Amino acid sequence: MTPSAAALLRWYDRHHRHLPWRIPPGQRGGAPDPYRIWLSEVMLQQTTAAAVAPRFLRFLARFPSVEALAAAPESAVMEEWAGLGYYARARNLHACARQVAAAGGFPRDPDALRALPGIGAYTAAAIAAIAFGVPVVPVDGNVERVIARVFAVTEPLPGARTRLARLAQGFLDQPAARERPADFAQALFDLGATLCTPRKPACALCPWREGEGRGSTGCAAQARGEQEALPRRPEKQARPHRHGAHFLLSDPATGRILLRRRPPEGLLGGMLELPGTPWRAMPWGREEALAHAPLPGLPWRLLPGTAEHGFTHFTLDMTLYAAALPPAQADGARTRFAEGAAEGWEWRAPDSAAKALPTAMRRLLALAAQDGTALPPAAPCLATVPGVVPLAAASSPSSEDEPPAASAAAPHRATRVRSRRR
Ligand code: SF4
Repeated sequence: MTPSAAALLRWYDRHHRHLPWRIPPGQRGGAPDPYRIWLSEVMLQQTTAAAVAPRFLRFLARFPSVEALAAAPESAVMEEWAGLGYYARARNLHACARQVAAAGGFPRDPDALRALPGIGAYTAAAIAAIAFGVPVVPVDGNVERVIARVFAVTEPLPGARTRLARLAQGFLDQPAARERPADFAQALFDLGATLCTPRKPACALCPWREGEGRGSTGCAAQARGEQEALPRRPEKQARPHRHGAHFLLSDPATGRILLRRRPPEGLLGGMLELPGTPWRAMPWGREEALAHAPLPGLPWRLLPGTAEHGFTHFTLDMTLYAAALPPAQADGARTRFAEGAAEGWEWRAPDSAAKALPTAMRRLLALAAQDGTALPPAAPCLATVPGVVPLAAASSPSSEDEPPAASAAAPHRATRVRSRRR
């Protein structure tokens, strides 16, 4: 038996979240903008709705339509994405915008949506259901959790995925879900985000709790008292560590620091970085690290402490060497590393760099700010950048997806985000 879609929708009508990309239930005067739905869904793949909301509005102010996004240079899109993590998604976002703008709009069919760059099965279903009212249930990690509990599916993930997706689509047999596919999808999202949370689900408030359905079946896991044990997952493996050494070259005369754009493919692809070594399993010795420095002959100083950053599959431990351009070499270095003169180099003021750099690299700027002398003057705000692990302090993993707002509030206890959270 499947719980009542109508009961969930009644709950959603009263308790839905107010999110900037949403049209609330009962206010569907015009069709939802698929651009806003698509953008929010891509951003939500990184982090929570609360963290995404301000970034979504900022992004929308800069690129108000899919045509505006398509017309923008990729570097501007990457810069606006800085700090959101998973930078391949930003490149796909841009490529997708170009295809959609050229085609004159988003397709409404999930299969056609799925053929666009960066749009997988979940995102295609979410856009189709929410923007176009196509009767399909998008299934992300939150919905999987709800469905696993409601039907007491004990098979562990990821093996259970196909069954969970099939059970979720089964709600469309009920007229209530079929008639309001956008609201039904968002009701499932909101249930997973606000009540059916990974730990301590608030079953007492749930429209699907046992005995609440007035004739329909209730949540099977809750009836058995097993809700916190589901969904089952395989045991986590410890993440390996990799090591990198990076270089902060400052130009005292101009107050700028040297950055380099990473190759388009691979981790942090296309993003700016403080130049450095490759990342590898072994820590870097001074001599071998300095062979990768922009000007190896300078008196590079190893700063105390390390910056740590959690990627999905490994934790990166970074050390930072700092040097200032001596006046005698300044003209030559400015020419050699001028933007456009050599691929990928550019000089930026530290505050501009902090806005454009991904979170991993901002952690290095914070390390430099702690040192007090490594950065050119006029960069005091960088002291609040999170993720720095002083040498003597215990380390705690952080995340490539840590939202800036959360970071400022808890500088050494960054939120780890490796799966979709709303
Ligand atoms: S009753 Fe509890 S476990 Fe079941 S769907 Fe509701 S919140 Fe989740």
